[in-house]
Amino acid sequence: MDFDVIVIGSGFGGAITSCRLAEKGKKVLVLERGKKWDRTTYPRELEDEWIWSHADPEHYHGWTDLRRFKGMAVIAGAGVGGGSLIYANVSAVPPESVFASGWPPEITFAGLQSYYATVADILDIHEVPQNQWSPRVHLMKEAADKLGQSQRFGPAKLAVSFDNDLVYDFDTEPDLKNSKRFINKHGVEQGTCAHLGECDIGCRADAKNTLDKNYLHIAEKNGTEIRPLHLVTKIEAIASGYRVYHKEFKNGGSIPSSTTAERVILGARDPRRRFDGFHGTPAAMQGHSPHAAKSESFLRETLEQQRRFSHACDVFASHALARSRNNHRRGDRLPRCQRQREDLLDSRRRHPQRDEQIFWSFAQPRTKTTK
Ligand SMILES: Cc1cc2nc3c(=O)[nH]c(=O)nc-3n(C[C@H](O)[C@H](O)[C@H](O)COP(=O)(O)OP(=O)(O)OC[C@H]3O[C@@H](n4cnc5c(N)ncnc54)[C@H](O)[C@@H]3O)c2cc1C
Repeated sequence: MDFDVIVIGSGFGGAITSCRLAEKGKKVLVLERGKKWDRTTYPRELEDEWIWSHADPEHYHGWTDLRRFKGMAVIAGAGVGGGSLIYANVSAVPPESVFASGWPPEITFAGLQSYYATVADILDIHEVPQNQWSPRVHLMKEAADKLGQSQRFGPAKLAVSFDNDLVYDFDTEPDLKNSKRFINKHGVEQGTCAHLGECDIGCRADAKNTLDKNYLHIAEKNGTEIRPLHLVTKIEAIASGYRVYHKEFKNGGSIPSSTTAERVILGARDPRRRFDGFHGTPAAMQGHSPHAAKSESFLRETLEQQRRFSHACDVFASHALARSRNNHRRGDRLPRCQRQREDLLDSRRRHPQRDEQIFWSFAQPRTKTTK
């Protein structure tokens, strides 16, 4: 056998599993379909490598796999670190009531507590320091207080590194220079949060405690081999283990190969596809957009919005702001937040088919990616 264990996918499931197996002395291989990204390579411009296309991964192995199904769109990261590269960093412990039904008896709220604590420690989670709360957070608190729901308001725990001494005025544009470089508790260089608002498109400040900066790093230190740009296509049972078929993307083509291991861990989610042969719905990424003409400018605008304005809490804060403006003319106190809200509402007015257009903008990659 080539390896003791092959782990497919390097997101939360794959990263943690490979880390713990490697620590126990197993010879581990991680196969990851996406690239290894860093703060200098995250896509920003239209021409950059945004799209993962299952229909043509040889050319489109960008970092976001976006697929739409009936009544649902799914977005997932494609890269070393999986969803951690683009997620919103919120590390929430579910309430005990979540475990009341639907779980195997072995999985209990009490039984998981020590694991939540371990994950919180490795991901190094923190709340946004109170001196860096944005006007939106203050508005949320104010709204919760006014609704008599103060006990339900609380800052989320985030897998983000903050500089407690940062003094940032939210009326000024965020500046990367506000980020300080440091070595994290696992020995990886990172930066502190400069409030760029780019969590979901890849942090240029390196402040997100993504899996490559903790679990995957520990796994590698313990001998794990991580192979980016390796798409697993098939798993075959063989005597005393498995043969995993994969193709490596290189120079616009792919090199098929296979590797064996005693055990295989599936840490990859792949909507509506199965590993044996990958039959599925390539049509999902092959659409021809009726909105193609408008999509470029719209995507550009959307990206700009995304840099500045995101998450459900913002929407709520917008409403809170609208109400407080009407009631107290509070708008003057929050010029930047107000401007963002007005930009967003204006964009929605001008683009009523917004969600449809975003999808098709992504679904029609215009540039080819190379390794
Ligand atoms: C925009 C966004 C914001 C989010 N915010 C939060 C949040 O704040 N808090 C929270 O708890 N969760 C959040 N999530 C959800 C969270 O990211 C996912 O639940 C989590 O990433 C799932 O982990 P996973 O290991 O199952 O899959 P993933 O993290 O998606 O990892 C799977 C990996 O497998 C790889 N892969 C897939 N198929 C193959 C193949 N055939 N061969 C090789 N590799 C393959 C993929 O490229 C990927 O790297 C967010 C998700 C998104 C998209």
